[in-house]
Amino acid sequence: MTDKVHVIGGGLAGSEAAWQLAQKGVPVVLHEMRPVRPTEAHKTDALAELVCSNSFRSDDWETNAVGLLHEEMRRAGSLIMTAADQNKLPAGGALAVDRDAFAGDVTAALAAHASIEIERGEIASLPPTDWDSVIVATGPLTSPALVRAVQSHTGEAELAFFDAIAPIVHFETIDMDICWRQSRYDKVGPGGSGADYINCPLDKDQYDAFIDALLAAEKTAFKDFESTPYFEGCLPIEVMAERGRDTLRYGPMKPVGLTDPHRPDVKPYAVVQLRQDNALGTLWNMVGFQTKLRHGEQVRVFRMIPGLGHAEFARLGGLHRNTFLNSPKLLDESLRLKADPRLRFAGQITGVEGYVESAAIGLLAGRFAAAERLGLSASPPPPTTALGALLAHITGGHVSADEGTARSFQPMNVNFGLFPPISVPRQPRGKGPRSGKSFERKRAMANRALADLDRWLSTPTSVAAE
Ligand SMILES: Cc1cc2nc3c(=O)[nH]c(=O)nc-3n(C[C@H](O)[C@H](O)[C@H](O)COP(=O)(O)OP(=O)(O)OC[C@H]3O[C@@H](n4cnc5c(N)ncnc54)[C@H](O)[C@@H]3O)c2cc1C
Repeated sequence: MTDKVHVIGGGLAGSEAAWQLAQKGVPVVLHEMRPVRPTEAHKTDALAELVCSNSFRSDDWETNAVGLLHEEMRRAGSLIMTAADQNKLPAGGALAVDRDAFAGDVTAALAAHASIEIERGEIASLPPTDWDSVIVATGPLTSPALVRAVQSHTGEAELAFFDAIAPIVHFETIDMDICWRQSRYDKVGPGGSGADYINCPLDKDQYDAFIDALLAAEKTAFKDFESTPYFEGCLPIEVMAERGRDTLRYGPMKPVGLTDPHRPDVKPYAVVQLRQDNALGTLWNMVGFQTKLRHGEQVRVFRMIPGLGHAEFARLGGLHRNTFLNSPKLLDESLRLKADPRLRFAGQITGVEGYVESAAIGLLAGRFAAAERLGLSASPPPPTTALGALLAHITGGHVSADEGTARSFQPMNVNFGLFPPISVPRQPRGKGPRSGKSFERKRAMANRALADLDRWLSTPTSVAAE
């Protein structure tokens, strides 16, 4: 008989991982601490409880990366997507679900599966050594005892407790007739070129208008359990601005060591810098711009920055209670801890963001663990697929100046900026969101993704769905 795989955490990722394993005939013990021990956000004892919104976001696979991820997961036999489709509510182009019926269906399907045993109780230490294959999927609110155990195993600095997220911009939407590439004082540094940053210049009037807008913009509040998250190295920009109008000009927006080649005789009053955020160079993050501004306000205020007038954001800023590993450093390409390969990680704890992305990484972890148990080699999905692009983000596709440190790796939703670029023929100008070059580019990427996914699913090493 095949030995059991232990999955810790019956949330979005753990439920999907257990399902994928069981569907391959691999026996699973799924450990969920609720209701024996609650979290600060969950309200029920159901598996796959949605702690906040009931939306899985856009279901449009042709032009939206999360819609594409839905479709790929459906094709890979996802339990989470089946339950979502069974319980969907009217929500325009989004996939919204009846949360109780959704979680009820997931719980019932797992409980009824002959290969799955559900154990209620906290795993409060590293799993015993005779558990030789474990998936840890304990989420952003992992219990403190397990956090301490993981931390002692990985090193204290490799597990973060708050994500301090700066917005990320799609490169193609930055106006390079206004911005320019240069590192401060042209410093080359380890692995740099001296032109590693994109710089956006502001004159005094633009800076004053930006500070006024920042101070007046609407902010989001912290939840009760998110007490005192600020630490000085990581203050939200609006908090810095509240400390004095010039604080940002002497902090992340300081204009020193930079010369604007478009106007070499004019010294900028302030500069916003963007740093490359993925190996493909398609995504750039706004250095030091972690913020608690409301999302709509971020788009409005940050588009005031010269060169970002038409910026499209792959991710907006935030500051939340979260628990996530420095995955690019710690995990191999099949999500195993390099230092202790019997432990695999899945879900939000690996540095993805969102219900769907967490379930997607659970799906991959389950398939990888199943392949291992069945003596197959598990190839990762191609990086051209949404599943592969997301996996590459957490296991190594990410780069930045301080590569591989917990400080630079931040959680991320799936987005087309994570995919290898694709060229599309010039398009005639069209009207509306479903026309033009951007639409055709997304559609081409989505079609390439599904073709590559189907090929991957049909190879025996991928443990294709039955
Ligand atoms: C307050 C809050 C609001 C959020 N709102 C949204 C939103 O609106 N939309 C969105 O897409 N994402 C949201 N997220 C992110 C969301 O948590 C993740 O997207 C998703 O739930 C993560 O899935 P997961 O499986 O990794 O973790 P979870 O779904 O949280 O599952 C982890 C499970 O592990 C269990 N567990 C923890 N520690 C142990 C232990 N030691 N032993 C056994 N079991 C344990 C927990 O009880 C839980 O059931 C929110 C997160 C938080 C914290």
